[in-house]
Amino acid sequence: MTALVTIKDVVKGYVRGKQRVEVLHGVNLEVRERDFLALMGPSGSGKTTLLNLIGGLDKPDRGEVIVAGERLDTLSSGKLAKWRARHVGFVFQFYNLLPVLSAERNVEVPLLLTKLSGKQRKQNVRAALELVGLADRAKHKPAELSGGQQQRVAIARALVSDPTLLVCDEPTGDLDRESSEAVLELLELLNRDHGKTVIMVTHDPRAAEHASRLLYVDKGVLSAEPLGTAA
Ligand code: ADP
Ligand code: MG
Repeated sequence: MTALVTIKDVVKGYVRGKQRVEVLHGVNLEVRERDFLALMGPSGSGKTTLLNLIGGLDKPDRGEVIVAGERLDTLSSGKLAKWRARHVGFVFQFYNLLPVLSAERNVEVPLLLTKLSGKQRKQNVRAALELVGLADRAKHKPAELSGGQQQRVAIARALVSDPTLLVCDEPTGDLDRESSEAVLELLELLNRDHGKTVIMVTHDPRAAEHASRLLYVDKGVLSAEPLGTAA
């Protein structure tokens, strides 16, 4: 199957004051279409930095980032924003729902940037909420939902524009075991039955078991084994 994501010799650092701290030191990665990849590693190792490059939220200092056939590292920020809206759904640890909006309004937000009519938007929102099993909570505000339900609304929002790729940064990091399982089973379903490619950062080995592939990030380097276990 073709590669959906190709990362070539990517270097990325941040400037703090007069100092540049390098976070990714020449990362190479290929993710095929319909993969479910889990990324694990200690905090501060560069996992979020890598996800943000894959999702087109940020650009590398050096190297190539090619996702869904597009060279993201050379796109202008305007084009990158348009590309993101079409190709990527983001899921974050703390859901990032707007507290004053109902579940259905939250899910509708990404569609406000599209040319869809109000009626089409409503249909797509409905379908996304049904897919995550929360059609009956459409009118609820985030504060009226459990953490697990809020995360499922956030997943509906990530899905509603039918992106190729779901990028999930510790999606179960704030959930109890039961809600985590529900969220992970949902990601698995989206991967298996709806053709979504999923890239998920997690600290939880049980969460990683839901993925079809596991890689470790340590101090800005990717490997197939956790650091210290290599022969
Ligand atoms: P992880 O997600 O694995 O915990 P991150 O990718 O968030 O790691 O961060 C890697 C390193 O880069 C950390 O040392 C962090 O402090 C630093 N960092 C991340 N984002 C920024 C930023 N916007 N500005 C400066 N330093 C950053
Ligand atoms: Mg992180």
